[in-house]
Amino acid sequence: MLSYQHAFHAGNHADVIKHLCWMGVISHLKKKNKPFTLYDTHSGAGLYQLDDALASKNKEYESGVDKVANLSANSPLLQSYLSLCNGFLSDRCYPGSPAISAKLKRDIDVLHLMELHPAEHEKLDDAMWQIGDSQSHVHHRDGYEGLIALTPPSPNRGAVLIDPPYEKLSEYQDVVSAVKKVLARWQQAQMVVWYPLLSQRAGAKSGASQQMCQSLSALGKPCFIIELTVEENTADAGMYGSGLCVINPPWQLDVSMREALDEITPLLGSNAAYTLTWLTTEE
Ligand code: SAM
Repeated sequence: MLSYQHAFHAGNHADVIKHLCWMGVISHLKKKNKPFTLYDTHSGAGLYQLDDALASKNKEYESGVDKVANLSANSPLLQSYLSLCNGFLSDRCYPGSPAISAKLKRDIDVLHLMELHPAEHEKLDDAMWQIGDSQSHVHHRDGYEGLIALTPPSPNRGAVLIDPPYEKLSEYQDVVSAVKKVLARWQQAQMVVWYPLLSQRAGAKSGASQQMCQSLSALGKPCFIIELTVEENTADAGMYGSGLCVINPPWQLDVSMREALDEITPLLGSNAAYTLTWLTTEE
């Protein structure tokens, strides 16, 4: 059963780090005048109205994008993120990963958006029309199945965002299996996998992301993890931060992410901190 709705979390600290990183990957692909394909396996609703009943229930954006939106940034990646976000925030909207991809891609590039939840898929379809994107492919299907079916792209340049809700413990293993299958058919795939950092309260899920990253690193491709924590990891903290495992990262994405996070982390609270760790490097 699918019960997760991203609207409750739109624009929170986890969205900020995830969307910064995804923008960094896309910006690098755009440096060459050659087409690329983007895959978003868990797209969500695409665009979020921050003053509606869902987003305003817990107002998670107040501890995320709202804290950084007015920053006059030095980091080029952060400047791009803030400029894109502020275009939406002026209408009290936050762009989900589909809106970000659609805004950044060029006419020569291809975007595949997958979403399994029927109501979220319908909202995603509407959101793409709202932002004027009639070219991208909006699929109502399982993101892992779709990803395997649609890769490798031709030409084989591109990137994948895997951003599951992790409602079930088995989803951590689903991610590893999907990444393994994609790399077997598309070795150059640049892949960004988001994961939550959960305290002991989450039971078996609390150490699951660490195990997942170890398994992803064991696939042998260059990869780093970047984690942003906003609270101390006390037993009751719940989700105290989140991380990204980036496989086949583009040249200097680690540097761009450090520059951006050096600027925003102090704004996210006195307990906020980030780490960036290479798990596997190129031989
Ligand atoms: N990537 C989005 C963003 O950054 O704006 C947020 C996605 S949200 C965290 C996860 C989404 O995955 C939910 O909308 C959920 O309905 C959807 N979902 C869950 N399982 C799925 C599956 N197997 N395939 C595709 N979508 C799935």
